Amino acid sequence: MSYLDASPTPFHAAATAAARLVDEGGFEIVTEHEPFPTSHGRYAVLRDGALVAWVQPEGAARHTPWRIIGAHTDSPTFQVKPHPDVVKAGWQLLGVEPYGPPIYNSWLDRDLGLAGRVVVRDPAGPGGMRVELFDDRRALLRLAQLAIHLDRGVNERGLQLNPQQHLVPLWGVGDAAASFTAYLGEQVGAAEGDILGFDVSLRDTQPAALLGRDGDLLASPRLDNLASCHAAVEALLAAAVVDGGDRTACRPAIVLFDHEEVGSRSERGAASPLLGSILERAAGGDREDYWRALAGSVVASADMAHATHPNYVEMAEPAHQVRMHGGPVLKVHRELRYASDGRGIAALRLAAEQADVPLQVFVSRSDLPCGTTIGPITAGQLGVTTVDVGAPMLSMHSARELTGVPDQQAYAALLAAFLRPA
Ligand code: ZN
Repeated sequence: MSYLDASPTPFHAAATAAARLVDEGGFEIVTEHEPFPTSHGRYAVLRDGALVAWVQPEGAARHTPWRIIGAHTDSPTFQVKPHPDVVKAGWQLLGVEPYGPPIYNSWLDRDLGLAGRVVVRDPAGPGGMRVELFDDRRALLRLAQLAIHLDRGVNERGLQLNPQQHLVPLWGVGDAAASFTAYLGEQVGAAEGDILGFDVSLRDTQPAALLGRDGDLLASPRLDNLASCHAAVEALLAAAVVDGGDRTACRPAIVLFDHEEVGSRSERGAASPLLGSILERAAGGDREDYWRALAGSVVASADMAHATHPNYVEMAEPAHQVRMHGGPVLKVHRELRYASDGRGIAALRLAAEQADVPLQVFVSRSDLPCGTTIGPITAGQLGVTTVDVGAPMLSMHSARELTGVPDQQAYAALLAAFLRPA
């Protein structure tokens, strides 16, 4: 829950995960423009909203296969537009646009804050700039609903929202525009004229909470896919502890990509050379060792899965219903929207046996389209066996999603076993 609350944007999610690996696992942050370590140790590379971390176990070779967990740090939200200052009907508004996409109605009438990254002029910094993160958890903004008296029939007809017209949050009263860059300057301690660029999004201010009669459900923003990032970090920390001895058959790694929700095409998305380049450099730049390692490697693409919704049971494939508290979920799709095939599925089943956790299976109805993950993209980039797995949840892409506490624990245990096959 503290990870979810501290990670309102991909930048925060990657930095928070890296800090945990350093503090609790003794990982060393490696800078990409410096020579890479290839000796025994625990390493992490942070590239803006993405993170790669790996263990080079004592006694393992540079061609030792990898076990890699991949997840993504970005979540559906609304991003602030480049020229966001809007005034209308005596209101100060902030121009935003959907990212992801979010379920629009779930963001209405909530107390919203702002978080993100600001790039500030700094002659002493690399490239004449420096990067500042900020997280403003005050209730600043609201996407206000239209009163039902002005929209009779909305409950029968369903809510129609045009993102350009209806999804512009208010954040003040007045006829003069509120300056967003002045606000950013206050947040990061810089003059307005020194704000050179920003990546800022809305964040729900309500913290993660336990829910349900027995308190065994978890309600939070960004479970898709920070729950998987968290499970991946937990798994890597657990794998790092058993470093050494005879467990040198494979090397554990995690990769947390950005931009999955918008297609993964960026310098830090799954379609980038990020992961491959780091694995190659971890092999000391030896191409032969790099390919030898990949030949025996397996990737677990960790992303959340749809639990069967009690009020929409007909949306689930009848023979593949997914229960909350039923444990982690293997995801399979005939057209490779998920990357799982027999070999990857077998590797995951062995990990589930090792961790002693149950494994459910999700297959979408044959007459419904299916979401996708970084799994097929990573498989296509690296040429490595890949299997898709997640934890069951409801309300995916809502401002406030729902998963199960025991499912999250079993998910982390499964991924830890996957990283360290017995
Ligand atoms: Zn996702």
